[in-house]
Amino acid sequence: MTANNNAGFNTRAVHAGQAFEPRTGAVVPPLHFSTTYAQDGIGNLRSGYEYGRGGNPTRDALQEQLAALEGGSAAFSFGSGLAAEDSLIRAIARPGDHIVLGNDAYGGTYRLINRVLGDWGIGNTPVDMSDLDAVATAVAANKTRIVWVETPSNPMMKITDIEALAAVAHDAGALLVVDNTFASPYLQTPLALGADVVVHSTTKYIGGHSDVVGGALVVKDAGLAEKIGFIQFAVGAVSGPMDAFLTTRGLKTLGVRMDRHSENGQAVAEWLLQRPEVEAVLYPGLPDHPGHDLAAKQMKSFGGMVSVQFKGGEAAARTVAENTTVFTLAESLGGIESLMNYPSEMTHASVKGTELAVPVNLLRLSCGIEDAEDLIADLEQAFAKIG
Ligand SMILES: *Cc1c(COP(=O)(O)O)cnc(C)c1O
Repeated sequence: MTANNNAGFNTRAVHAGQAFEPRTGAVVPPLHFSTTYAQDGIGNLRSGYEYGRGGNPTRDALQEQLAALEGGSAAFSFGSGLAAEDSLIRAIARPGDHIVLGNDAYGGTYRLINRVLGDWGIGNTPVDMSDLDAVATAVAANKTRIVWVETPSNPMMKITDIEALAAVAHDAGALLVVDNTFASPYLQTPLALGADVVVHSTTKYIGGHSDVVGGALVVKDAGLAEKIGFIQFAVGAVSGPMDAFLTTRGLKTLGVRMDRHSENGQAVAEWLLQRPEVEAVLYPGLPDHPGHDLAAKQMKSFGGMVSVQFKGGEAAARTVAENTTVFTLAESLGGIESLMNYPSEMTHASVKGTELAVPVNLLRLSCGIEDAEDLIADLEQAFAKIG
């Protein structure tokens, strides 16, 4: 079957873009590796396909699935999250334009905007996105074209009111871009709250199995879709067919995985909160998190990402990071296996010494889909090694 956009999330995840193959009836659409397509006479294409950079059926299937899940009119798949971000900014910003972004944005996003696109004349101002007055002031100070937010943010787990931020951006004639990597469309759909563009590193929850790098953009507006589509084709940072296939396969089970990630995140956060070694637990599912009520309103549940700060400072954080056996010490997040990351030297090393720097006593946990008791037992034995 195919799914219409009124079907439930999991029905859309399994069926959107996934109609069976008409010739053989193959239930899983075949993976198309061909780079080029036979023409029945010059320019007479069989079903619109001409050359692999411009269009590929396997990539199209993923794009249709992504658009259906985020509630967009169009989606675009790229070779990585940063490739998607770069193409987006080229599509909508010009020299002299300005980007206002969260002061705890993903380190690679800040590096792209500040160190690469800065040289092309695009300015930026990092601000605390949970402070809407500060955002409005920063937006008004320049020719702001883009307001860029991650919520929950990485790794400080701050929550921003997407609907209110969209109003601030639109009042100033800017577009609101939401990096929805941490929440995924199962937990939060920013386009429905007024955002103009959703960005994903599909490497994380959408792929979900730590075996494929990719990125995506999803939009509602047809004019914006046309601009992005042109850049995707003209710049060519597209995802390959195998990557698109793996991402589609992961995306089909997003809902069931996210339910477990959220359960495990909540269990781990509540356990951490009881521990004497812990200075702070940053998890929006905890009632005393400053963004708890807002997160409860704009998210379905609170996800699998938990950050924790230690009273014993950097030494305690390093001891735990280097002594777990179920949690693997590694970059990245969002896979079925639990990962632990020390942001100030790993994912966020590129923002060390800037105002986006992450506290040295902080560990970021990506809670996988293992059994919660095993995750907690693993943390308990690592905590016992803190001196
Ligand atoms: C990983 C990540 C990115 C960058 O995506 P890549 O696929 O690594 O290029 C962007 N934003 C967030 C929130 C991320 O976690």
